[in-house]
Amino acid sequence: MAKLGDWIDPQPSGIYIPAADVWIDPSQPVPRALITHGHADHARGGHGEVWATPETLAIMETRYGPQNGRPIAYGEGLRLGSVDLRFVPAGHVLGSAQIVLEHGRERIVVSGDYKRRDDPTCAPFEPVPCDVFITEATFGLPVFRHPETHDELDKLLAALRTNPTRCVLVGAYALGKAQRVIRELRVMGFEDPIYLHGALQRLCDLYVELGVDLGDLRPATGVAKTELEGRIILCPPGALNDRWSRRLPDPITAMASGWMRVRQRARQRNVELPLILSDHADWDELTRTIEEIEPREVWVTHGREDALVHWCRLRQIKARALDLAGYEDEDD
Ligand SMILES: [Zn+2]
Ligand SMILES: [Zn+2]
Repeated sequence: MAKLGDWIDPQPSGIYIPAADVWIDPSQPVPRALITHGHADHARGGHGEVWATPETLAIMETRYGPQNGRPIAYGEGLRLGSVDLRFVPAGHVLGSAQIVLEHGRERIVVSGDYKRRDDPTCAPFEPVPCDVFITEATFGLPVFRHPETHDELDKLLAALRTNPTRCVLVGAYALGKAQRVIRELRVMGFEDPIYLHGALQRLCDLYVELGVDLGDLRPATGVAKTELEGRIILCPPGALNDRWSRRLPDPITAMASGWMRVRQRARQRNVELPLILSDHADWDELTRTIEEIEPREVWVTHGREDALVHWCRLRQIKARALDLAGYEDEDD
């Protein structure tokens, strides 16, 4: 009897599907790539053809210039070689998708990066029952339990209120996290202008173009220092402590990331106000998802795979780590 899932071939540089002659999120340029989402460790430039959701294609074009793209809407059924495939929402960032592959009588779901909590900037994760679930495990340890999003953002708003002559400078990844922080604040009723480091402008503009209302956004550069007192300013994490931030009014340094759970990471970046806000599933979300979709096997692409593999085996679910290279925590 053939081995479950033997028609796909996970390699260090990505998942290759011989029966469709296509790669998923390859780290090297390939003739044809299926891309789960726009983060740089999954979506690289230089592929011959890119099959992805229209939002992911737009993000890639914003970052890398024109793509030879084949837009695929959520739910649209396609056949490549002898493989049926479709993209379903992953709840990670705008346009993010799981890829559902069917061949013979087997169904494999490649989750890409995903989360289960509400995110007002993208479609929610859709659980798809399958034989093999290929999952990430960025926060695959029981210590990782993300708190409520609005509790974290309440801390930000409280810091702002109690320090009217300072500003709160929030480090946030340019794709997904920055827009989610802004949108969540708008949902919570915060209507003041929010100021942006120049490196965040293009992707925020793109989100707005694609229908995510981010409210009053203004450039933080070329603005009088006094105008920035009592304001929220967003920048990429790399700009938190650089020269650029020195011209701001006594910034309270914050960072929005799942890694802020780890004190040492907050200290490394001199973060005064850690905001635990992640676009990845935490331990409970990872395990609940596996329980919900009941796969026969779990394959773990990247992250802290050992604990999750062990958890699966205790429940008589076959599991293994794939050790895919090149997926970084760029996007936590
Ligand atoms: Zn990602
Ligand atoms: Zn990733």
